[in-house]
Amino acid sequence: MKVLRLTPQTSLDLLPDYLWDGESPALSSRMVVCLRQGRIDRVVPRASYSPDGSQQLYLPHLTLLPGLVDAHVHLALDGLDFKAAVARWQDPEAMIHCIKKELEANLEHGILAIRDGGDASGWNLWARDRAPHEGPVPRIVATGRAVHKKGFYGSFLGPPLTPPFDWQRTVKDLAAGGSDQIKVIVSGLVTFKNWGEVGPVQFDFNELRLLVEAAHGRGLKVMAHANSDGAVRQAVEAGVDSVEHGYFVSDETLHKMAERGTYWAPTVAAVANRLQVAKAREYNPREQDIIRRTVELQLKKIAHAHKTGVRLIVGTDAGAPGVYHGRSYGDELSFFLAAGIPSRAVLRAATSIGAGALGLESELGSITPGKLPYLIAIAGNPLEDLSALQRLEVVIIPEKG
Ligand SMILES: [Zn+2]
Repeated sequence: MKVLRLTPQTSLDLLPDYLWDGESPALSSRMVVCLRQGRIDRVVPRASYSPDGSQQLYLPHLTLLPGLVDAHVHLALDGLDFKAAVARWQDPEAMIHCIKKELEANLEHGILAIRDGGDASGWNLWARDRAPHEGPVPRIVATGRAVHKKGFYGSFLGPPLTPPFDWQRTVKDLAAGGSDQIKVIVSGLVTFKNWGEVGPVQFDFNELRLLVEAAHGRGLKVMAHANSDGAVRQAVEAGVDSVEHGYFVSDETLHKMAERGTYWAPTVAAVANRLQVAKAREYNPREQDIIRRTVELQLKKIAHAHKTGVRLIVGTDAGAPGVYHGRSYGDELSFFLAAGIPSRAVLRAATSIGAGALGLESELGSITPGKLPYLIAIAGNPLEDLSALQRLEVVIIPEKG
């Protein structure tokens, strides 16, 4: 795989044999993507293209498409060993090493933009702002530290809040600390002891509504961890921008999400991958059965969400047990396919729609004039066969800064 880093001054004409722009129902062939001053200036058919002396890059037999977006990761966790990862947060040298490897893994899988769902030490902010990146890195949208209620799930994601809540203050502090979006924990985790068990709801409708108001007042989106239909419905009605996980959501709530334009990252790998490798041994047969049923139900909900018009996005929850940065992205895509989602819809979730959830729709996620060249070139037609994404030949990415 070749990585091309472009400076803000770059003038370059890309000549792939095929192109998928992030939206269209079909590939177009023999197009030219002209980059000027580091941005996509125009996309023209090769027949009407007249070179102006800018450098040219032919991409024979390859399909050029927008870089992939992982809308839910945790760079501070590695998917291998939760306790060891949290202990490592005290060791900056080890963290530099780990985060560097994770960012590389994203690029190796064509993932050029990620949104981090938070960690209590704020390593995701550090990865975005201060990590010594010598090589190319994906665009990082960082939530910093997540908001959760004292005594409830989420202590490793951020400091606990105690009532009465001062949302204006909380959001102001997070924004000052560099959070691009506000991550709120609305319910607990899906556990597998009993079917449908997800832990209690942490904030009521009014509390969430005021938090969303405070965040939107500062131009920040709200990313809500919510499981159980009650938690998801309340979050959606309070106006959150994206629902994360959303296990046990009802069809009725999905309709509401479609109406309101709420994004949904169903993070199937975060539950399904627990059955893989050594992890399966931690669960007895009854629990394994609950995991399987939970995944099956989630796939049905994804199918319904697609039919209803919910803005599905691809978020792996990389860093969660059994979910690895970069390489588990393909798992999540496979689950979308298994749910019956057509390839093009999966690809839109993975590119243009994902970019919207990250608040980067004017920067990346499609091949249109004005956008930055976060692009990948692969061998094959991903609209016919999504596994073509594994045949990644070229990554094109703007220099950080
Ligand atoms: Zn997460």
